[in-house]
Formats: sequence, structure tokens, C-alpha cells
Amino acid sequence: MTVSEKRLSKAIDTLKESGVRITPQRHAVLEYLLTTMNHPTADDIYKALEGKFPNMSVATVYNNLRVLREIGLVRELTYGDASSRFDCNTTEHYHMICDSCGKIVDFHYPSLEEVESLAEQVTGFEVSHHRLELYGKCEDCQKVETKKH
Ligand SMILES: [Zn+2]
Ligand SMILES: [Zn+2]
Repeated sequence: MTVSEKRLSKAIDTLKESGVRITPQRHAVLEYLLTTMNHPTADDIYKALEGKFPNMSVATVYNNLRVLREIGLVRELTYGDASSRFDCNTTEHYHMICDSCGKIVDFHYPSLEEVESLAEQVTGFEVSHHRLELYGKCEDCQKVETKKH
């Protein structure tokens, strides 16, 4: 089994345990998320799967993503507009986002988790989660940039 096949079979188990019906479309959305790992929008997923499911709409994709989010298999990254990205990496991690092409790359920085306990001590809040995003230019876009000059 490849890594993504293992991830998929684990995710299917989670679906079964939550009593969520596994439709062919739901399976395909999950499979796409787990094999690409590239934080797609609902529209990206729709475009990738429309050939396989001609009757599927963007609304169906959203619906499936909502179900997957509710049982904790997918995280939604909202940006204050319609372009939510969906992330099936539900472990603690951060995002590096390319200003030019919009690519999102995961990275880990475990020591940042200390921020939560420090913030709780300072503010008296009970922290539920935190989110960190860094912006810049990915390697591909840097190459394009140097070619231009
Ligand atoms: Zn880029
Ligand atoms: Zn991510």
C-alpha cells in the first residue's frame, strides 16, 4: 500500500465509524484530497472530478466537504472570501503561501505550540487553536522571475 492508500483506508474507517454513508462521490472527493495534498478549493476538486461524475455539481462537492469537515477529516482554511481551501492534513502544522501562484506548502514547527500555554497564562483565555501563515514566493515562481530579467 502506498502512503496515500493507507491514509485513504484510515479515512474510510473514520467515515464508517461516524456512521456517514460512503457514496462514490464522497469517496472520490476524499481520495482526491488525500492523493494531491495540495489544499484545493471546492472548485479545483469539482474540475478534477467532473469527468468521472458528469452529474456532480460544485454544491455537491461543498456538501461532501462539509460532511468530511464535521467528522474531522478535513480542515477548511477560510480567507474571508469564497476561496476556502481544504486541507486533509489534520495534524498540527503551518502554511507557507505563495503570493504569485497561490500554492500552499505545509511545514511543522513544534516549538510554536508553547505559544498556546504562554498566551493562556498572559490573557486568562482558554486557547482552542491557532493558525499561522507565512507569505512569499515559491521556488517555481522565483525561477520564472529570474528568467524575466
Ligand atoms: Zn508560486
Ligand atoms: Zn496544510
